[in-house]
Amino acid sequence: MKIERIKTDLLVIGGGTAGCYAAIAASKAGIKILVVEKANIKRSGCLAAGVNALNAYITEGRTPRDYVEYAKKDADGIVREDLLYSISEKFNEVTAHLENLGLVILKDKDGKYVTRGNRNIKINGENIKPILAAAVAKAPNVQVLNHVNIFDFSVHDNKIDGAFGFGIENDTFYAIEARAVIVATGGASGLYRPNNPGFSRHKMWYPPFNTGAGYAMGIRHGAEMTTFEMRFIALRCKDTIAPTGTLAQGVGAKQVNSLGEVYETKYGISTSERVYGTVAENLEGRGPCYLRTVGITPEQEESLLKAYLNMAPSQTIRWIENDTPSKANVEIEGTEPYIVGGHTASGYWVDTKRATTIEGLYAAGDVAGGAPQKYVTGALAEGEIAAKSAVEYVKGLSALRLIRQTHQPAQGSSAPGANPLEKISEEEVAEHVAEIEKFLSKRGGNTEEARNESVEHLEEAMQAVMDAYAGGIKTGYRYSENQLAVALKEIEKIETRVGDLRAADLQEVMFIYELKERLTVCKSVIAHLAARHETRWHSFAENLDYPEKDNVNFRKYVNSRLENGEIKIILRELTAEGQRNYEH
Ligand SMILES: Cc1cc2nc3c(=O)[nH]c(=O)nc-3n(C[C@H](O)[C@H](O)[C@H](O)COP(=O)(O)OP(=O)(O)OC[C@H]3O[C@@H](n4cnc5c(N)ncnc54)[C@H](O)[C@@H]3O)c2cc1C
Repeated sequence: MKIERIKTDLLVIGGGTAGCYAAIAASKAGIKILVVEKANIKRSGCLAAGVNALNAYITEGRTPRDYVEYAKKDADGIVREDLLYSISEKFNEVTAHLENLGLVILKDKDGKYVTRGNRNIKINGENIKPILAAAVAKAPNVQVLNHVNIFDFSVHDNKIDGAFGFGIENDTFYAIEARAVIVATGGASGLYRPNNPGFSRHKMWYPPFNTGAGYAMGIRHGAEMTTFEMRFIALRCKDTIAPTGTLAQGVGAKQVNSLGEVYETKYGISTSERVYGTVAENLEGRGPCYLRTVGITPEQEESLLKAYLNMAPSQTIRWIENDTPSKANVEIEGTEPYIVGGHTASGYWVDTKRATTIEGLYAAGDVAGGAPQKYVTGALAEGEIAAKSAVEYVKGLSALRLIRQTHQPAQGSSAPGANPLEKISEEEVAEHVAEIEKFLSKRGGNTEEARNESVEHLEEAMQAVMDAYAGGIKTGYRYSENQLAVALKEIEKIETRVGDLRAADLQEVMFIYELKERLTVCKSVIAHLAARHETRWHSFAENLDYPEKDNVNFRKYVNSRLENGEIKIILRELTAEGQRNYEH
């Protein structure tokens, strides 16, 4: 491996929705910005295949407050209103910017955006990611490193000084020093056994390459995290795992069981209740469950076929190969659980400025907690908020340095903190390089089993454990304390076997790090599930030992922090209703 040291003012880890927008927003501040992306920002992350709607928009007659109330109700109160307000007030502004950049937003004959329900607008979004990437390419002061996987932060005294990564295509190790860092690596998929096995296992709803890297790096360095127990389970079209919102909101399709009975009225229509009702109907023998599309008009059918081409082409192909939606209802199922701060509230515990509890580290998008129902526009808004805060922080450091240089010339640049750009030591670099080289070295291991270990094998083992003991599809998303204890023990056992893995190249080394990230996130998920002694969100956190909601003890945020190798749970009081600002 070549070793390259880079220095920048602002490092953005993950060039997805929030990361790209953060770079664009910070680009006019006159500081050096580096975006590091494990894939290629043209087609990476959640927007890689395109989306067909902006799910969060303040439509005519509605207000940001309405949106906050909606998200709060859906999460049964466990949200941060300050975060939700700050994104809701920006939804329309970032949408207008996207349109300016070239995104096609559907309009009616009066030139108004075509809405879908109360909060969505329809777009032709197949090319939404290339549009964002083109804007990043044009932004001044922004450099992009594609195909570089970041696997660790450099943190000293709870202050971030940069990150470590490796280039998958150029055999290069990167030690990147930065004065501020925005983590925007998205959520975590692949923790649980997915709907489809074997060859098709990556046919999942959430991008399989968002492995929870940002969460894992933060957890290991002691960042406070929130609400990992509020897992997100998507209600999806069976087999294709295509979204169902377009059916429910686009053509008003109701959830029906195999007897043709509408069951959503029985269980409720919050995001988790829609999944729960489907699981319950199946368990009680009234499955399979469907979205009732039979009888829709030819125009509606055509609009569905086109809409799915924009975001989940396999569903359109399936319709063309089999019965179209006007002739057969669409079968639905829940996916495996994901950890996604843009849909539920899991992620970094941030203040209103999106500062994490590690100094100089900001979080935006699915990696940041507290603000569910964020979606594309929320991720963009958070990218912008985090960028402004990070720029302010970097400029504050510069001012501080200037004051130090003016008032303490005798101490010069060797004074601690005098030059915040020389913080990653040679030892730290050597340690990280050695770790990678160990994975690239000849296979070790004392036993036959250790010598034959593979990432795929351990990944499957991890997913099987989470599925059976931490509320996966197998148990109808339900779990008990005893099961969670088994899950933790088994995940820890798998962790000890990761050291035996070997890789032929850096691509395979990345697979090892992805597995390590997932295992770290699994342990936090287990700890959070065990800590919330109630069932507030059916299916998302279905605790068999505590099947009822407990507003007395658990109208609280369940937060956590790694201290001396142990996950410490912190129960925090909810912020006040209508509160617009929160500081750590
Ligand atoms: C299939 C799907 C459909 C959706 N449909 C809609 C919709 O119709 N409307 C809507 O409003 N919202 C939709 N959403 C939600 C929305 O797209 C997301 O909430 C939002 O895009 C998340 O943005 P993000 O920046 O947090 O994550 P992403 O855009 O996923 O960005 C994360 C980036 O980090 C990179 N990365 C990860 N790990 C590393 C690492 N270790 N080193 C370097 N880079 C790394 C990834 O490659 C990726 O580019 C959908 C989501 C999905 C998954």
